[in-house]
Amino acid sequence: MSTPDAPKFTNSYATLPERFYTKMQATPVASPGLLRLNRSLATEMGLDADWLASEDGLAMLAGNAMPPGADPLAQVYAGHQFGGWSPRLGDGRALLLGEVDAPGGAHWDIQLKGSGPTPYSRMGDGRAWLGPVIREYVVSEAMHALGVPTTRALAAVSTGEVVLREDRMPGAILTRTASSHLRVGTFQYFAAQQDEDGLRALLAFAIARHSPELAPDDAIGFLKAVVAAQAELVAKWMGLGFIHGVMNTDNCHIGGLTIDYGPCAFMDAYDPRKVFSSIDQHGRYAYGAQPEILVWNLAQLATSLLPLINSDVDAAVEAAQEALHRFGPFYTEAWKTVFFAKLGLTEGGEAEIALVQDLLRAMSENQADFTLTFRGLADGSAREHFVDPTAFDAWAKGWSKHSADTALIRASNPAFIPRNHKIERAITQAVSGDLSLFHRLCDVLARPFDDQPGHEDLQQAPVEQELVRQTFCGT
Ligand code: AMP
Ligand code: MG
Repeated sequence: MSTPDAPKFTNSYATLPERFYTKMQATPVASPGLLRLNRSLATEMGLDADWLASEDGLAMLAGNAMPPGADPLAQVYAGHQFGGWSPRLGDGRALLLGEVDAPGGAHWDIQLKGSGPTPYSRMGDGRAWLGPVIREYVVSEAMHALGVPTTRALAAVSTGEVVLREDRMPGAILTRTASSHLRVGTFQYFAAQQDEDGLRALLAFAIARHSPELAPDDAIGFLKAVVAAQAELVAKWMGLGFIHGVMNTDNCHIGGLTIDYGPCAFMDAYDPRKVFSSIDQHGRYAYGAQPEILVWNLAQLATSLLPLINSDVDAAVEAAQEALHRFGPFYTEAWKTVFFAKLGLTEGGEAEIALVQDLLRAMSENQADFTLTFRGLADGSAREHFVDPTAFDAWAKGWSKHSADTALIRASNPAFIPRNHKIERAITQAVSGDLSLFHRLCDVLARPFDDQPGHEDLQQAPVEQELVRQTFCGT
């Protein structure tokens, strides 16, 4: 048997100017325990899963020891939170340890979330409790399996310490990995300080990570790439009934990944005005508002990039607007691809767009479960999810004139999503020491498009007393 290998880290972010971050160590924890390790992701990243599961690996995942080459730091950023400007946010409970280079040449950032206070913690304790760690692990990995670009979860560990929230909760740390942790808010931070050199260095770094085909100073090319990636991302969210819940600019990833699984949730019954987040009083981030809010966020990125687009302000604004205006057609195309496939259609025009919209309208009028209805198109059970099944029948008459591909329907409409009431139950059970539902959710959601006999309970919509009406930011 070969001895497991410690990973070899580098940290290219640490080579950027010092005003980009604060270098610091994690605050050690009392008694780390491995809750779950994502072995397939470890392999994809070129990491030795056996080392990660070893005592040395656990010490790294808990922030108690750093492997060679790690150069931990908290990144600084800014952001608009619910429309209000915060000039300095940053990693308040996370540290970027560094990156590993995967076999295929991809860079993977490795970040500990819940690793202790940093200069950006404001009033927070820098810690996480088990609940949000389980939520992020389950939902981010499910998103990946559902084909949605996302940050990933490499591991979850318990700390053996208590975290004070409304109650005394068990502490935990999530190891998050991603192609980068750059946000619209990272650009806003330097733009707000009129730090053009900083902006330029950030742009070059972002382009090297996410759009290496561009020249390192191609601000407009970069903006267009972010617009395209984010349009595609949000179209995918819409196709799954996913509500991000906190689409602040600091949670808007410039590589087009889903990031921040705080108050997110998948809808049960379809309602375009649906909101879960307890702090979203006015429905700013409601399901149906997501594409528009994204445009608002992208406009903040465009504004931040103006000085790098053109030294002539009018020319810069014109070019930025042209790039932003691409969002509409990009999003429409992405939406069509997603929703046509959900109906089993490989292409379509105005008539098919109307067909999708008619179904969605009928679903909202009939409180039809989003996931079960679409999946049910494959086996004729969709009508059962309508208060008035004849409303579905009326719609299906029009649909039946198209030759829908049943295999495409099944490949485009998951049987399993991370239902909120199941996540809540997994968290409650985990807090009392039983991780079985957490593990089962992860295992089943790794194959969300397959029927999995014996796990029907995870498919079902919540009954009235199981309904989760609100979600809370995972602080
Ligand atoms: P979020 O709402 O998760 O996007 O976080 C917004 C900001 O609050 C970020 O700068 C976080 O790092 C910070 N933050 C959230 N929770 C905590 C915590 N428990 N301790 C310190 N900072 C936190
Ligand atoms: Mg965040």
